[in-house]
Amino acid sequence: MFYMGIDIGSTASKAIILNEEKQIATQSIIPLGTGTAGPSRVVEAAYQQAGVRQADINFSVVTGYGRITYQGAEDQVSEITCHAKGVFYLNPSVRTIVDIGGQDIKVIKLNAQGIVTQFVMNDKCAAGTGRFLEVMARVLDIDVDNMGELSRQARSKVMISSTCTVFAESEVISRLSAGETIPDIIAGIHQSVARRIASLCLRVGLEKDVVLTGGVARNCGIVAAIEEELNTKIIIPTIPQFTGALGAALLAWQQGRAG
Ligand code: ADP
Repeated sequence: MFYMGIDIGSTASKAIILNEEKQIATQSIIPLGTGTAGPSRVVEAAYQQAGVRQADINFSVVTGYGRITYQGAEDQVSEITCHAKGVFYLNPSVRTIVDIGGQDIKVIKLNAQGIVTQFVMNDKCAAGTGRFLEVMARVLDIDVDNMGELSRQARSKVMISSTCTVFAESEVISRLSAGETIPDIIAGIHQSVARRIASLCLRVGLEKDVVLTGGVARNCGIVAAIEEELNTKIIIPTIPQFTGALGAALLAWQQGRAG
């Protein structure tokens, strides 16, 4: 039998299927979040990739922003619990998780047993999130996936002082028309995001090891900027965007085997 974890985010839907040995049989992602066809498509894609049918799934757990409205899983569990579970499984030395998703930032602190001791979340404003970076990429006419690589070519950082997405967008436009280069502007954008993240981390107090997760962790420029801002080495898990889905799948494995 198999066990499934589904993470329905604001921006992307992720699924992981584990086998009886708790190994990852497949991981699947669709860049569409809650309220779209993303959740059903990601589940279908995971079945196909793993070569399994719905009847082969012993237990499934759903997490993420869209978990409440999803009908297809046996249980639903909060993102905080699932991220903590998934990251601790991959990196047991973790004490602080910083998750940067499409629309929110979470900072989660864990003890040596992997139990969540504290968390803060910024979900009222797009500043510092994947959405902020997507808006800036659109203004710069580049793909968000290339921001990290482009920022490596920066010679200096163009300071972006507004944290508000709308004001920052105007600021980027005026920097472009003033002749600043795209890599230098991106480096400034990354620094602005990193400052936002750092101030959230300071609210809970940073404890090592620090692990960065979420889709934005795939941007090497953001990783470097956060390391600089926090003056700490940051660990990126092997599957940074799937840690919530992995945590849900591990809970499905536990609950399914417990009967
Ligand atoms: P959510 O769970 O809120 O849907 P995710 O953790 O899946 O969010 O992250 C989605 C965000 O990750 C998007 O805003 C997207 O821009 C960003 N992202 C995804 N892939 C990459 C990549 N290769 N490089 C940089 N950013 C990325």
